[in-house]
Amino acid sequence: MIRTRFAPSPTGFLHIGGARTALFSWAYARRHGGRFILRIEDSDLARSTPAAVQAILDGMGWLGLTHDEGPFYQTQRMAAYRSVIAEMLAAGSAYHCYLAPEELDRLRDEQRAQGLKPRYNGAWRPEAGKTLPAPPPGVRPVVRFRNPSDGVVAWDDLVKGRIEIANAELDDLIIARADGTPTYNFCVVVDDRDMGITHVIRGDDHVNNTPRQINILRALGVAVPLYAHLSMILGDDGQKLSKRHGAVSVMQYDEHGYLPEAVLNYLARLGWSHGDDEIFSMEQFCEWFDLDHITPSAAQFNTEKLDWLNAHYLKRAEPARLAALVQPRLEARGVAVTAVPSLAAIIALYRERASNLNQLADAAEAFYIEITPPAELLARHLTTEARPALADFVAGLTEIDWEPAAVGALIRQSVAAHGLKMPRLAMPLRVLLTGREQTPSVDALVALFPRETVRKRLSLAG
Ligand code: GLU
Repeated sequence: MIRTRFAPSPTGFLHIGGARTALFSWAYARRHGGRFILRIEDSDLARSTPAAVQAILDGMGWLGLTHDEGPFYQTQRMAAYRSVIAEMLAAGSAYHCYLAPEELDRLRDEQRAQGLKPRYNGAWRPEAGKTLPAPPPGVRPVVRFRNPSDGVVAWDDLVKGRIEIANAELDDLIIARADGTPTYNFCVVVDDRDMGITHVIRGDDHVNNTPRQINILRALGVAVPLYAHLSMILGDDGQKLSKRHGAVSVMQYDEHGYLPEAVLNYLARLGWSHGDDEIFSMEQFCEWFDLDHITPSAAQFNTEKLDWLNAHYLKRAEPARLAALVQPRLEARGVAVTAVPSLAAIIALYRERASNLNQLADAAEAFYIEITPPAELLARHLTTEARPALADFVAGLTEIDWEPAAVGALIRQSVAAHGLKMPRLAMPLRVLLTGREQTPSVDALVALFPRETVRKRLSLAG
């Protein structure tokens, strides 16, 4: 049974890199009929906040990456960590170290001064035949892991290939601070063990932690999971993704008018591929996803491609669903959305040319508020040539059936009577009705408005 986890630290929003890690972990479990576990790594009390926990849950919910177990919180697992520390102390795989922090600092300064890599000197590490000093009175010890002193720790990373580190490079890690609280790497190990994780899929900023975690897992006598370390995501400009790149939090993509299915499809292709396939559903992704086709090189974000995918999904979504997503955006701008004209119908017409929900809101606004067409556009299109045709069109409005074909027939009739071409009337209609030159088909556009609104807006032409 495959068991994967997403283990974010709640120190900020769910960012796009985290979302990809979550997606890959989720999809791998789905692919193999396994379980996906959500674990909130909130043991760093100084940096974790309830707001950040909520932001992670919101982001996961928005993307629809549902977990099968959890969320587990490290702050609620302290008893488990403490009991493992006690076991390890009893088994000799961990020991108390009474070296005072000031002493350790002094030691490190000396080592640096000699051009050495700063490290713990092993003063309190038990060895066969070694007599340890008596614990100094009044000092509360930290607990250190007794790391193997020779050999290498190696794993076949499912993305990066074989990685080997000499144990001599690794210090005896502090697993519990002097106040008894467990440290980060240790909590991860106990959690991965207790949660039966078989595949650890995470960002490659954790590669350095892996040898330490493997050594502790071995000391605990448990099977070591497989590791897949994902390369980082670069911004459009090739620099490390950061706030400078605009949308970094997943929920900002929502704000910017992206659909979750577009973001998911986009993230799926960010460092993973299935031939030349670019557009696919999450069901399809879960059938295809494997760890063999993850690229070890950094993936570069491409906003244009995300926009293209979003435009694709906008065209396929139910207009009623899009209307429910656009309505609050209009309301947030103080625009009251009424039943007529129908927002879903406006969206159905406009989405052919939109690449996000905010553009749909921009276009829909003109249907619900009084508009003032820009003088410059009026001057350009409301020409003396066009006016008589427009007057005919207005005069004919009351007679026709209120639907696009009849509107189209009336437009053609009005221009023909004055020997003009279609755009001569279509353009002033667009500008007077929406304040813009670019709109979808003018027949459909006119018919979307109530007849009275059309008459009122066209009367502006005087
Ligand atoms: N909590 C870590 C982070 O947010 C992830 C730890 C892990 O996946 O092992 O970067």
